[in-house]
Amino acid sequence: MSTATQLIHSIPVDELTGAISVPIYQTSTFVQEAPGLNKGYDYARTGNPTRASLEVIIAELEHGSTGIAFASGLAAIDAVLKLLESGDEILAVDDIYGGAFRLFTQVYQKFGISVNYVDTTQAENVFNAITPKTKLIWIETPTNPTLKISDIHAIARIAKANACWLCVDNTFASPVLQQPLLLGADIVVHSATKYLGGHSDLIAGLVVTKDEALGARIKFIQNASGAILSPFDSWLVIRGIETLHLRMQKHCENALAVAKYLDTHPAVSAVFYPGLPSHHNHAIALKQSSGFGGIVSFILANDTAHAAVQFVTGTKLFKLAESLGGVKSLLCHPANMTHRSIPAEKRKAAGVADGLVRLSVGHENIADLLVDLEQALSSVSIPREQLQEASVR
Ligand SMILES: *Cc1c(COP(=O)(O)O)cnc(C)c1O
Repeated sequence: MSTATQLIHSIPVDELTGAISVPIYQTSTFVQEAPGLNKGYDYARTGNPTRASLEVIIAELEHGSTGIAFASGLAAIDAVLKLLESGDEILAVDDIYGGAFRLFTQVYQKFGISVNYVDTTQAENVFNAITPKTKLIWIETPTNPTLKISDIHAIARIAKANACWLCVDNTFASPVLQQPLLLGADIVVHSATKYLGGHSDLIAGLVVTKDEALGARIKFIQNASGAILSPFDSWLVIRGIETLHLRMQKHCENALAVAKYLDTHPAVSAVFYPGLPSHHNHAIALKQSSGFGGIVSFILANDTAHAAVQFVTGTKLFKLAESLGGVKSLLCHPANMTHRSIPAEKRKAAGVADGLVRLSVGHENIADLLVDLEQALSSVSIPREQLQEASVR
């Protein structure tokens, strides 16, 4: 069965009524016939049928055993970290999501969990950084915002050989484009706020484990800590998933056109998109995913925060906002926005230049998007050296 068909039919028809849309069970508790005798649910933090549907759907899409839904992507990440104990070490991708960096360093380090950030785009860096304390390897691929690609299969083999878990934040690719558990990862997390929800109208997070016992441990943490996804937001994510396949196709198509356009533009010095053959790890992206996603980042030739701010406030269709993955195109200036919580040196070392702009390419007509980028680029002051270079050409 094709992925599209499987995806659409992974959403169940309600057995009780035949409802084609998953019902929203807006309830806190469930009546019991006798103590402990119930219809599978007792209290809605522990389990809710709408959330349970979403948890089954995402587990199927990611080819895992267990899905667990949380109130946000960060709550999902937090639940995975609670598998660790004092003295354990996390080996994490250096170009990590800002909120994950903040959680690792400002919350978990004080409980005796250390973090070592490495450039995971070379699998041997991961191999070399492993210590007996390493318990969890944490990668995002593609990363945010520089779209770095790490080899999931190669890193999964290193994780296995060293008895640690590999967790992949699959937010940027979505399960339509990339299935890390099939490549050997143990855990997948999503900010469902992004592509899975897809309409910029909710905050949600998901965890999927390959192994049932590990899934049960995270389900225990979900109930014990309580950061569950509400029934209504669970329903919204399910509704988003219904069109995920179509939406990802359109995101990929538009983003590739935007990347190609920027790649030859004189006001742009670098473009980051895994679908460009010039991308550092294009070959790995081709091998492990069926598409390159909707995020494109680039550095202005005038690589200053001033020029970047001028650009991000100069577009009309691309709206200035944090977040990504919706139908409407968005853009942001990571150094000032999403990556502000990462110290400047660390941020620059990970490639997040002052003049870097991140685009979340949506579903508008591509010609309209390119016109919008063109007019905003033409308004960004070009440094003197470059003007001379341009006039020589
Ligand atoms: C947004 C995001 C998160 C955090 O998710 P929230 O839903 O905002 O809590 C984690 N990882 C990545 C890659 C993200 O883009």
